[in-house]
Amino acid sequence: MSDKKETNDAKGIVFNIQHYSIHDGPGIRTSVFLKGCFLRCIWCQNPESQSLKPDLFYFEERCTGCGRCAATCPANAIEIIETKSYTDRGKCNGAGECIQVCPNDARNLMGKEMTAQEVFQKVKGDELFYKRSNGGVTLTGGEPLFQPDFSKNILLLCRQAGIHTAIETCGFADWEQFKDVLQYTDLVLFDLKHMNSEKHCEYTGIPNELILENVRKIHHELGIPIRARIPVIPGYNDSVQDIHEFAKFVVNELDNLLIMRFSNRSCACLITHQLSVC
Ligand code: SF4
Ligand code: SF4
Repeated sequence: MSDKKETNDAKGIVFNIQHYSIHDGPGIRTSVFLKGCFLRCIWCQNPESQSLKPDLFYFEERCTGCGRCAATCPANAIEIIETKSYTDRGKCNGAGECIQVCPNDARNLMGKEMTAQEVFQKVKGDELFYKRSNGGVTLTGGEPLFQPDFSKNILLLCRQAGIHTAIETCGFADWEQFKDVLQYTDLVLFDLKHMNSEKHCEYTGIPNELILENVRKIHHELGIPIRARIPVIPGYNDSVQDIHEFAKFVVNELDNLLIMRFSNRSCACLITHQLSVC
């Protein structure tokens, strides 16, 4: 199979394409949210992104309990109780017949199969914004490395079109796959969750050794710019010692070259080369 054909035909599951993003890298960007993730962070803001398969989404406030979905469901997975519908996820096959018959758009499928070329065409539509703001495309999720071939091919198409490329990653992936994807990546937004491996495992389901090894390699072997991002979760990774450990890792292991962005709903601050913490 030629590179060209592979690029155009590579398929993956996307659960959102967000235009005009300003928090996922420099400038104005198009953020492509890919399904599937290796981690199970207990604070995950996008749990619908965790599995690779499309997930049924239900907007309870829109449901009037009309019962059309229950009457249509071939898996007998839906029950109407008073004015709301309830879905047995164990029975649901995700085919989505209930979505077609709902008059109130109370049901939707999160996750759609697309080709790399289709994603690229959506991204390319925002090119004017990238040029004016030094922006570009960011693959996020979920975890872009969960669909490495798909991610690589989207990034390749963008690179060929002169669009700045970034990925946001949790860092847990096979190194060879990382290298493959990163050959077309201009910037890595690297999520650091916790520096203590036991706590990392407790909060995300996996230890952090491979993650830290990968971020070191990206910096030292590939020399790709990294922007470390820490989701500051009260009670989990926001103690003075936690912040100190994050900062120490960046300074000692990554040559003090990074800007770290701390964020949660209530606070955002930067640690710069001078390690000034606000
Ligand atoms: S068809 Fe839609 S509005 Fe009617 S019960 Fe089902 S989810 Fe609710
Ligand atoms: S997606 Fe299909 S199986 Fe699942 S609740 Fe809707 S109709 Fe039933």
